[in-house]
Amino acid sequence: MRILLLIFSLSYLVSAQAQPRQLLVPGGIAIINLEPGNDSGYQFRNKPVLVTKIEGKPAALVGLPLSLKAGEHFIEKRSTGQVLKKFFEVKQKQYTTQHITITDKRKVNPYASDMERILAEKARKQKARNHYSIADVDVDFLRPVEGISTGSFGRRRVFNGQNRRPHSGMDIAADTGTPVIAPSAGRVIETGDFFFSGNLVYIDHGQGLISLFAHLSEIDVSVGEQVAKGQLIGKVGATGRVTGPHLHWSLGLNGNWIDPELFLPATD
Ligand SMILES: [Zn+2]
Repeated sequence: MRILLLIFSLSYLVSAQAQPRQLLVPGGIAIINLEPGNDSGYQFRNKPVLVTKIEGKPAALVGLPLSLKAGEHFIEKRSTGQVLKKFFEVKQKQYTTQHITITDKRKVNPYASDMERILAEKARKQKARNHYSIADVDVDFLRPVEGISTGSFGRRRVFNGQNRRPHSGMDIAADTGTPVIAPSAGRVIETGDFFFSGNLVYIDHGQGLISLFAHLSEIDVSVGEQVAKGQLIGKVGATGRVTGPHLHWSLGLNGNWIDPELFLPATD
């Protein structure tokens, strides 16, 4: 009886998991089955890809940049003089345009005196996004905050009538002070009060999977700290370039920002 119960609860846990979903468009992810025992060493555009188990079998999760052209792409592995390639097809996706009015005009057109700070922060952000560590990755993610996500990943952005880069994450509307939790285990690799992102936290989940949480009112972790899945990392706020309190969550994979929704359980 006890064994039966155990089997039942295990299968329940497995089916309740949020396995990442494939979406073969710019800003999506490719999931490529690999041969057991021959699943390491694959790269996409010269960056190592994340290898995990999907339904018990080894698979590569490949982050596709928003700038990727539609068509055939591949991951590759070089071993003893030969190159092994696995191909996948990426379809076009037309992201909509979003017009946003920011009352603090300095956050859209910074002063010349802000540029030194902005450039230094840009370098730190780039370093954090491209951080890589070898680790087993828990790809079964939790929603970092309760609230309504606007589904605005990838939208082209026009701030106060001026073109800016596409939206690289998910916005979740919530009140200032709402707890933000780590969606999966990892290590804090960067924190600070940044010009555009406000108070931010970067978490390295391993193998090039990186979370960025922005606009926080409060940061509750420090660089170097190991965080457990579900652990409090900060509070929702309205710091940086915002129109109101919300959590901005970006998810990077092999150096590319992808739609975080693909790592969350499907909503109905
Ligand atoms: Zn955002």
